[in-house]
Amino acid sequence: MDKLQHQTMVKGSVKQQFGRKKSIVGKTIPYYPYSPEREYQRFVKAYLKLLSQELHKSLPSLMSRYKKGLQATTRYDDASNLRKAVTDEFADISSRLEKKLEVLELEKSLEKISKATKDAAYREWKRVVKKTLSVNLMDDYYNGDFYLQMLQQWVSENLRRIKSIPTETLNELENVIFEGYSNGVTVEKLKQVLQSKYDISKQHALVIARDQIASLNANMSKLQQTDAGVKRYRWSTAKDQRVRACHDELDGKIFSWDDPPEMWYETKSQGVVYTGRCCHPGEDICCRCVAIPVFDYETVDVPIDGDPPQ
Ligand SMILES: [Zn+2]
Repeated sequence: MDKLQHQTMVKGSVKQQFGRKKSIVGKTIPYYPYSPEREYQRFVKAYLKLLSQELHKSLPSLMSRYKKGLQATTRYDDASNLRKAVTDEFADISSRLEKKLEVLELEKSLEKISKATKDAAYREWKRVVKKTLSVNLMDDYYNGDFYLQMLQQWVSENLRRIKSIPTETLNELENVIFEGYSNGVTVEKLKQVLQSKYDISKQHALVIARDQIASLNANMSKLQQTDAGVKRYRWSTAKDQRVRACHDELDGKIFSWDDPPEMWYETKSQGVVYTGRCCHPGEDICCRCVAIPVFDYETVDVPIDGDPPQ
């Protein structure tokens, strides 16, 4: 069956659902993949826990060396000695951590998380198509290479990001110590600053995890829909307190997959500020919005097999 024959067959199968209408909006809202999001967050927490453990092992010796430096009478000479001692200790943390991280099997874990996101995205797409057009999508069609390139790209990009977290965090903490020393910060105060810097890094990592699941889900939705002849979607927010004003205003409106709306935010002094970034649902940072497909009878071409409609 060629593409045209397939499309004709699909039109025959869904004709009844359309009736005299030219298009139908999806009759149910696809769920946002909260479960893979939690899985990625758990993974990031476990990852950072190892970093934190190794840091704590080295903290007493780092702090006693720092204290000694503060008390030194010739601080100018001691500054370079301290720098070397701290750098060595951090290099040590880094190499201990690298061994520890092997047990987490980074690549395998990321592959598992990406697969969970894919399964969720496919399950939702299948559910919306079934509920709206009363046809069953062909599992085989999606089990092949359909998502392959997207998943591989996501895994390698996330591997790069995840791997850079310890290095970046350790570099920042190292700088906190050097700065503290130049400013004569006490040991107690230094510990506080180190802790809050670490907390910021952790929050940042958790934000990345959420954002990465949202954007993978967004990319998959776009691929699933456009591949099936869907040209437009209806924007749908999570409808809770966390939804930002811009997305709240887009909620319920229809957009083309070729022409995403521009994002904006609002400040007290400047009012509405357009960011210049155009996004589909889920593409803006940590966005939990989803795209409800709008099926047009003229272009609808969902992958179903040739069985007559039931
Ligand atoms: Zn949103």
